[in-house]
Amino acid sequence: MAGVLGAEEAGRLLDLELRGELPDERGRFGPFGGRYVPETLVPALERLEAGVREHLHAPDFQAEFSAELESWAGRPTALTRATRLSQRWGAEVWLKREDLAHTGAHKINNAVGQALLARRLGARRIVAETGAGQHGVASAAACARLGMPCVVYMGAIDTERQAPNVGRMKLLGAEVVAVTSGDQTLRAAIDEALRDWVSDPEGTYYLLGSAVGPHPYPWLVRELQSVIGRESRQQMLERAGALPDAVIACVGGGSNAIGLFHPFVADRSVALIGIEAGGRGPGLGDNSATLTYGRPGVLQGCYTMILQDDNGQVQETHSVSAGLDYSGVGPEHALLMATGRVRYEQATDEEALDALAECCHAEGILPAIETAHAFAGARRWARANPGGRILIGLSGRGDKDMPTLQKTLLKGKL
Ligand SMILES: *Cc1c(COP(=O)(O)O)cnc(C)c1O
Repeated sequence: MAGVLGAEEAGRLLDLELRGELPDERGRFGPFGGRYVPETLVPALERLEAGVREHLHAPDFQAEFSAELESWAGRPTALTRATRLSQRWGAEVWLKREDLAHTGAHKINNAVGQALLARRLGARRIVAETGAGQHGVASAAACARLGMPCVVYMGAIDTERQAPNVGRMKLLGAEVVAVTSGDQTLRAAIDEALRDWVSDPEGTYYLLGSAVGPHPYPWLVRELQSVIGRESRQQMLERAGALPDAVIACVGGGSNAIGLFHPFVADRSVALIGIEAGGRGPGLGDNSATLTYGRPGVLQGCYTMILQDDNGQVQETHSVSAGLDYSGVGPEHALLMATGRVRYEQATDEEALDALAECCHAEGILPAIETAHAFAGARRWARANPGGRILIGLSGRGDKDMPTLQKTLLKGKL
């Protein structure tokens, strides 16, 4: 992949990334990222970018954000030494427990942060998109906490597949709009949320759920989720007395992974490994492994890696985990792959489910199926690196996945 950039350009960009100087002022991570949107959206994005620059790193905003994370969302989350997995794998395994954060995953970090920002920017209502419903639930909870009305756009197909999360959002006070246009899943929901935002960019705030989309979202979401990596790095130094040899996270849009990786990027001794959804296999439409099988292109306002056919048509994706089922990926991951700083691999549906079962038995933790992809990747790394020290981003809990698990792992066993 370094070939895409040329060795010299890859080295220059890696240097900027290690110094924390990306994205640049145009919102670019080297060739990736940027803002490829219709003219109508530009003023809203510029206004948001100005707001991020003014507030995000201001001490009073950071103090407010940290206080909410601590007293309401349950941070810092635990770092758990996985003693039985360590024995089984012949490695030293540590887990960063985002499953213990409020609403059950890392998504709450981003939702709280952006909701607080929306309030500072004077927004009167919030719109969000959701695929599996996890980001919708986190957004609904954060909005209820701040007393702001919340509208969640969700593909009509997803509202049926994820009915329990629709109920959770409604209980938390959100209005859920089923989107019947386009592919009737996440991509259509994002388009609909953008449309709503454009019609009232001052009164409405669009709370985007992963490190994707046009500038400034990939940067904003990374900054809010980096709390995961900052805590982990400090906890590893305190508890393990050393940095990990490898840090491993699952990659859908890429927000939990970039949040975990970013504070380790300059630690060159630490291998960073992202695990994508390998689904049923390598065929187009059989997986969601965007970085592994995709090619560069523009999707939803951003130049990044995309799963597309030879005519540039964006492909439907498949994964057993709804949260990894997206045909794009955050632009910073595209750069991190092109520079060689992060290695991206994949785990199939079957490997992920097998790793999920092992984590349940060995550690007494039911991870989300998304998260289980990271466990499958970590197990592979441990076999190739005996005695190595591994940190796994345990992005969320798996209770939400019971309907899928009943049809797969538990089939015929109840
Ligand atoms: C949504 C979700 C993911 C995938 O989203 P990213 O933006 O790639 O982090 C991973 N794990 C869990 C538990 C999720 O809910």
